Amino acid sequence: MDKKEILKEFSSDPDRYYKVKLFEEQGFVRKSCLKCKRFFWTLDSGRELCPDDADDTYSFIGDPPTTKRFDYTQAWKEVESFFVKNGHTSVSRYPVVCRWRDDLYFTIASIVDFQRIMGSKVVFEFPANPLVVPQTCLRFKDLENVGVTGRHFSSFCMIGQHSIPNSQGYWKDKCVDLDFRLLTNQFGIKEEEVVFVEDVWAGGGSFGSSLEYFVKGLELGNAVFTEFQGELGKHTTLDQKIIDMGAGLERFAWITMGTPTAYDCCFGPITNHLFEKIGIDSDSEMLRKYFTAIAKNLEIHEDLIDVRRHAANSAGLTQDQINRIITPLEGMYLIADHLRTLIFAITDGALPSNVGGGYNLRMMLRRINGTMDRLNLKLDIDELVDMHIDYLKDTYPELDAKRQDVKTILKLESERYVESKTRMGKMAGRLKEKGRAPTVDELITLYESDGITPEYLKEIDVISEIPSSFYAKLSDLHQSDKKKDVEQLPLENIPETEMLFYKDDPMEFDAKVLKVFDKSVVLDRTSFYARGGGQEPDHGTIAGARVIDVNKHGGVIIHEIEGQTPKEGSTVSCKVDVTRRANITKNHTSTHILNSSARGVLGSWIWQHSAFKEADHARLDITHHSSLTDQQVQDIENVANDIVAKDMSVTIENYDRGTAEQKYGFKIYQGGVVPVKSVRIVSIEDFDVEACGGTHVKKTKEVELIKITKTKRIQDGVVRLEFVSGPTAREYVKQQEIEQLKKAEESVQKELKDKQREEERQKAKEKIPALLEQIATLSNAGVIDEIEINVNSIKTCFTNSKQYDEFFHMNFGKKLVKENPNSVYVGIFKSGPTIRVIVYSGDEASKSKNAGNIAKSVAEILGGAGGGDTKFAQGGGKDTSKMDEAITKAKSMILG
Ligand SMILES: [Zn+2]
Ligand SMILES: [Zn+2]
Repeated sequence: MDKKEILKEFSSDPDRYYKVKLFEEQGFVRKSCLKCKRFFWTLDSGRELCPDDADDTYSFIGDPPTTKRFDYTQAWKEVESFFVKNGHTSVSRYPVVCRWRDDLYFTIASIVDFQRIMGSKVVFEFPANPLVVPQTCLRFKDLENVGVTGRHFSSFCMIGQHSIPNSQGYWKDKCVDLDFRLLTNQFGIKEEEVVFVEDVWAGGGSFGSSLEYFVKGLELGNAVFTEFQGELGKHTTLDQKIIDMGAGLERFAWITMGTPTAYDCCFGPITNHLFEKIGIDSDSEMLRKYFTAIAKNLEIHEDLIDVRRHAANSAGLTQDQINRIITPLEGMYLIADHLRTLIFAITDGALPSNVGGGYNLRMMLRRINGTMDRLNLKLDIDELVDMHIDYLKDTYPELDAKRQDVKTILKLESERYVESKTRMGKMAGRLKEKGRAPTVDELITLYESDGITPEYLKEIDVISEIPSSFYAKLSDLHQSDKKKDVEQLPLENIPETEMLFYKDDPMEFDAKVLKVFDKSVVLDRTSFYARGGGQEPDHGTIAGARVIDVNKHGGVIIHEIEGQTPKEGSTVSCKVDVTRRANITKNHTSTHILNSSARGVLGSWIWQHSAFKEADHARLDITHHSSLTDQQVQDIENVANDIVAKDMSVTIENYDRGTAEQKYGFKIYQGGVVPVKSVRIVSIEDFDVEACGGTHVKKTKEVELIKITKTKRIQDGVVRLEFVSGPTAREYVKQQEIEQLKKAEESVQKELKDKQREEERQKAKEKIPALLEQIATLSNAGVIDEIEINVNSIKTCFTNSKQYDEFFHMNFGKKLVKENPNSVYVGIFKSGPTIRVIVYSGDEASKSKNAGNIAKSVAEILGGAGGGDTKFAQGGGKDTSKMDEAITKAKSMILG
C-alpha cells in the first residue's frame, strides 16, 4: 500500500482524521511546513517549519525544555505513574525473544506483545485494556549508528500505550489528550513546545492515521490509530480498532537531561565509570556542539561517514580531537549499549551462535571485544554486567535472577573470540594481499562462514570503513527465515476429522470413510494420532489393511494405507497398534522431563530446539553452547529418573491462550508457536509446563526409566540428546549389562592368557643355560627340545616351535653366537597377526651367513620386510599361508 497516497487522502480531510478534541479546546493551529509541506499542529502560531526542518532541532542538548530532570529508570516511573493514575494497567515487559511469533526472532515493538498469528491473519490479545508496557525492543538494522549518532540503540525501551476503543478503552481524543498531558503536566514541557505531525501507518493489510509528537525537533512518540483494512478507496473499518502509541523511553530521559547524547542518561553509572577509564569529561561544550551537529546532519546526509565529517567540521573539531576524544567515546557508548542488549537477550533465553537470531548476539559481543582491543581498554565485563543489572533491576527484576547465567555465557563467548583471533588474522592477511576491498556480500560471507567481523577488518586496515548497508543486509538475512509450505490435496468440502485421541481415545473404533485418494483414507473420526510436534504417527489397521502413516492437513487427518483401501461411504472398523502408541507416549513425556532436567542442570538458556519421538527411540535437541560432559549427561539422567521415581501427575488442561501465557509465561512454547486460541497445557506438576498437542502418560512412573544413549553437538548452539524410555530403556540397560559382562569375561580371559604366557616365558628362560650346554657338546645333527641342530663347518640352529616367543629367541640366539662365533641361529614364530623371523650369525659364521640377507628373504616370502646387519637381523610379514615356504627358505639359506 502506498503510504503517500493514504497521507494525501487523510490530510485532505483533517477534521475527520487528525483534529482531536485537544486541538480544538487548546486552540492548536494546523500548519503546512514551508519546506516539506507536511502538516503539523502547534500552539505556536509563529511556527512555520515542521520539527525536522526547524532551527530549534536538538536545541534541548545543553538546554533541556523541562522543569524536571529524570534519568532512564526515573523517566519510566514518571510515565508509569501517570498512565496508572489515568486508568491504565501497567503490564510487565514481554521477552525480547519473540516466542509467540514464528516470523520474528526478536520483539521489535510493544504492539508485537499482543499480536498472535492465526493462519495468515494477525489478531490482538490484550491482557488488560487500556494498558502501558515498558517493552524492551531489539533492532539490529542500524547497528553501525549505535554509539555514533547519540540516539541509536541496539535495544531500547518502547513505552507502549495501547487501547481498544470499547467500554474500558478509548480512541483518538483521549489518547492525544493523555500524551499531551504526560509531556506538559508530568514532565513539565511548555505547551507550545509540543508539535504533532500528521502521518499514516500501514502494515499487515491494515492502516490508519497517526500523530507523531515532537519536542525541540526530537520525536518522542507516535500514536497510531489502526482503523481500516484493505486497499485505500475499497477499505473497510476494522472490527477491532487499536491504538498503538509507541514512545522511546531513552528519548524521554534525554530531553529532560539535555546531555550531549541519549547514552549519557540511559546507562546509569556505567557511562561515568567508562569516562573515568579513559579520562573524558562528557559534559563539555565541545561535545554538546558536536552531537547537536550530528543530529542535524543525520537529516541531511545518507552516509554516516559524511554525517560524522560534517559534524566535526561544524563543531570545529581537529583530527586529533576526533582521535583522542570522539573515537574512544563512540567505543564506550557502543560497549554500554551492546552489553545491555545482550543482558536482556540472554536473560530471555537467547544464545549467541551462528544461526538465526543468535547471530546478531554473537556479532554484538564480537563488536564489544573488538572495540576493547582497538581502544586498548581493559574492562571487566562482569563488573559492567553488575552495574547494568543493578541499575535496571527495579524496573526489570527478572534480570537480577539471571545475573550469573548472563556472565557465564558472555565469558564463554569472549573466550571463543580470543581463540578465533589467530585464525581471523591469517584469513585477513590473505585478504590484504588481494589488494582490493571486499564487497558487502563478501563481508557477509566472511562473517557467516569464518566469524570475521568488519570491525576487525577495519582495525587491521583491510577496509577503511564499514559499508553502511552491511548490518541492514545481515539483519534481513537473519530476522525471519522460518517459513513453511503447504501441500495441495483434494480435500474440498471434507469436514475436519473428529480427533478421538483428544477425547476418550479408544484403541478400537468404527468410523465412516469420507474420502479415498491414492493410498490415502479420510475418516469422519479417528484415534490414530497424526504426525505432529515431533511425535511420530500411530500405526494399526483400517478394515484389516495396515496403516503405515498418518498426517494432518489443516483439521483433516489422512491415513496412508498399505493394501486394499476401503470404499468411500462405508463404515470400517479400526484398530490402533497399542504397544507402539504406548512406547511413543512414554518417549513423549520423557522428552518433557529431559528438557526441564537439562535446564535445571545446565542453565536457564536451555530451550527445546526440536524433538522427535518414535516407538523405540527418541531425541531432544536443546539450545546449549557446548558439548556435554559425561558428568552433565549423568546428572541430567539422574534428575530425570528422580522425576520418574517420584511418580508425579501429568495433567492436561485447555486454556485460553492469553490466560496460559499470563499464568505460565512464554516457557510453555518449548515446541514452538501454537496457532490456535485454545492452548493445550501439559504439566508435570510444577516441574515442567508446556503447550503440547502430543500424547502423554498419566503418572511419570509409567515411563519406567529414561536412558540417554548418546549426545552430540549438532550445530552451533544446539546439542542433541538421543534417549530411550520404557521397555526400550530396560532392554537397553539389559544389553549394556550383557556387554559389560562380556567385556569383564574377556578381560578375565586375557589376564589368564597373559599369565600363562608369562609362565611359559619364564620356563623357556630357565631352559636357556641347559640348552646352550647341550648344544655346545653336540657333535652331530639332532633335535633338542624342538630346536633342529646341524653341525657342518658351521653349527646351525633352527626352530619354529610354538613354545618359544620373541624374548626367548632374542636371548637364546644372542648367547648362542657369543659362546660359539661359528654358529647361526634362526627362530620363526607367530606374533599377533604376523609371522616374525629373528636371525643371529656369529662373528665367524657371519662371513658366509649374512643375517640381514636371511631375514630379508624370509620376510619377503611372508609378504613383509626385514633388515639388520650381518650379525643380527629381524623381519616379518602377514601372509601366514606362506609359513612353510618361509621355513624351507630359512633352512636352505643357513644350510646351503
Ligand atoms: Zn518540513
Ligand atoms: Zn510435547
